[in-house]
Amino acid sequence: MSQLGTLEAGSRHDLHVGISPDAPDASEVRDEEGAFGYAHSYESSSRYDGPGLRIVLFMSGCLLRCSYCHNPDTWHLKDGTYVSADQVLDRLSKFAPALRSLDGGLTISGGESMVQLAFTRRILAGAKKLGLHTAIETSGYLGDRADDKFLSCLDLVLLDIKSSNPETYRSVTGRDLAPTLRFAERLAAIGKPVWVRFTLVPGFTDDPANVEGIARFVAPMKNVEWVEVQPFHQLGAFKWKAMKLDYKHSNTPTPTPDLINRVIEQFRAAGCRAR
Ligand code: SF4
Repeated sequence: MSQLGTLEAGSRHDLHVGISPDAPDASEVRDEEGAFGYAHSYESSSRYDGPGLRIVLFMSGCLLRCSYCHNPDTWHLKDGTYVSADQVLDRLSKFAPALRSLDGGLTISGGESMVQLAFTRRILAGAKKLGLHTAIETSGYLGDRADDKFLSCLDLVLLDIKSSNPETYRSVTGRDLAPTLRFAERLAAIGKPVWVRFTLVPGFTDDPANVEGIARFVAPMKNVEWVEVQPFHQLGAFKWKAMKLDYKHSNTPTPTPDLINRVIEQFRAAGCRAR
């Protein structure tokens, strides 16, 4: 059993490793109650991960292995801090008045927010009781796990669609694309607001046909409020080195403004509201 720790304010760019060595593997989470879980860190003032001013809680655990992941120290629960949902909600309640007054709320990111589904749900439900807007960021890979009770705690889903091509998706994430598309279609069917996020990695995801495939898939979905193009960066490279992981992108450039504009315009031409 992991020791309970204290979740301190920090940044997604802080390196956290080996904090809870007894934690289970991310693929073996069995907790139904969600009273306790593993988290990487939280940021107290993001204006980027949903509307208004946000607290962003970074959960531990992810089953994908994106070759360009900026936070490989969120993949394993053992690298996270074991905390109670009550502790997280107590901390959140201190920020709640400011978040409400600035039209913001809570975003749960990761890692993957649905690995510890019950823990995430409990925190989202608590945030709703505090009158906060709620969001998750997810790859959608575990979307089949999200029951109606979970979705009812959510005002917005930030859905990462990393590729429209199953082969490209598998080569950059190590997993199948189909669950993500299935989750997107389910969210569209129930009218759940979504911001699609696309990470633009030169030489890996920038192929016009790849972008076109996502654009054509998303454009008819009335629940998709934004498509956000997120340029690849090297801020996470030091984590791969520190964790002795094989990093494929040492020589991958950040996208040029021209490339970013081309991709945004591709989404717009297909009928998406993109930025
Ligand atoms: S889904 Fe996110 S956290 Fe998981 S490997 Fe990919 S980029 Fe990293």
